[in-house]
Amino acid sequence: MPPVYLTSERWWPMHDYITPAGWRTGIEEVAPKIYAYIQAYGELGVSNAGLLLDREGVMAIDALMVPSMTTRFLGAIKKVTKRPVSRLVNTHHHVDHSGGNFLFRDAQVISHTFCRDEQVREGIPVKQLQQRIPRFAKEFSKLKPKAPDLTFEDRLVFHQSGRDVELRHLGPAHTFGDAFVYLPKDKILFAGDLAFYYVTPLAFQGHVGNWIKVADRILKMDVDLIVPGHGPLGGKKELREMRSYLMLIRREAKKRFQLGMSPEEAARDVKLGIYARWREPERILPNIMRLYQEFQNELDQPIDRQRMMDGMRQLRAERHNHAAGEPDWCCT
Ligand SMILES: [Zn+2]
Ligand SMILES: [Zn+2]
Repeated sequence: MPPVYLTSERWWPMHDYITPAGWRTGIEEVAPKIYAYIQAYGELGVSNAGLLLDREGVMAIDALMVPSMTTRFLGAIKKVTKRPVSRLVNTHHHVDHSGGNFLFRDAQVISHTFCRDEQVREGIPVKQLQQRIPRFAKEFSKLKPKAPDLTFEDRLVFHQSGRDVELRHLGPAHTFGDAFVYLPKDKILFAGDLAFYYVTPLAFQGHVGNWIKVADRILKMDVDLIVPGHGPLGGKKELREMRSYLMLIRREAKKRFQLGMSPEEAARDVKLGIYARWREPERILPNIMRLYQEFQNELDQPIDRQRMMDGMRQLRAERHNHAAGEPDWCCT
């Protein structure tokens, strides 16, 4: 049995995350001229990226968050090609995927329309980011906005000499502007944050019910390898596991919503099972808050960020047995 920290609810074990072998930061050639760039261990702000080399040019998929990350990624790119990145896809607007855009100086940036709109609307909210992700606070003031300059709605295909590169949007899921990159010939899919493996999915700006449907559609596609937005390389097996998490929390949140429980009460009451061993299980709170909005037909409203931040901090504190004001990342 893993060690258990005894809150009165006893709702999650401590320091017992699942860490598959080979999950480490670095670039990996997953098929000829196709690379995944993985960042361990996928926590808040720590995302993955991709790289495609074709005769026509070099395409990167996501730019990572802060300069130290993007510079390391660019260094890894330099080791596999001398050419500059000419196209950069943003899978969605979150800063852990788009913060580094400005360091891709020669690249055209491509995204779903909503992803660009959100980047233009938000800019770089340095203070908020410092509060939300204190671990990287020093770097946020170095970011410069660089919004996408080419947008699409449902589908955009680059017919390269070596392969077709399909960008697709299947409706709201993790956000309202998610895109994934599909390489049909190679059966590889760069999912962005449509896929979280061994890291708890986060839906605070999403639509859980539709995310499940999007996962179903990807599961029906001809795909062998999936590069998730957070977590190690995987495939449909891991996507099915993530889908089961979304199904579990949607079903359990619904029961508690109907009983009139607050999201905070529901977050402590839901038994996460194996998912308590996925990183950042405290995301159960924003996910339930968002599900309540879904049940009330209020997904056009933003989530109450302060309540979400305070609640997650409290859950972490209970779990790690320290005061709520201490750093969030003390023992992750
Ligand atoms: Zn992300
Ligand atoms: Zn995201």
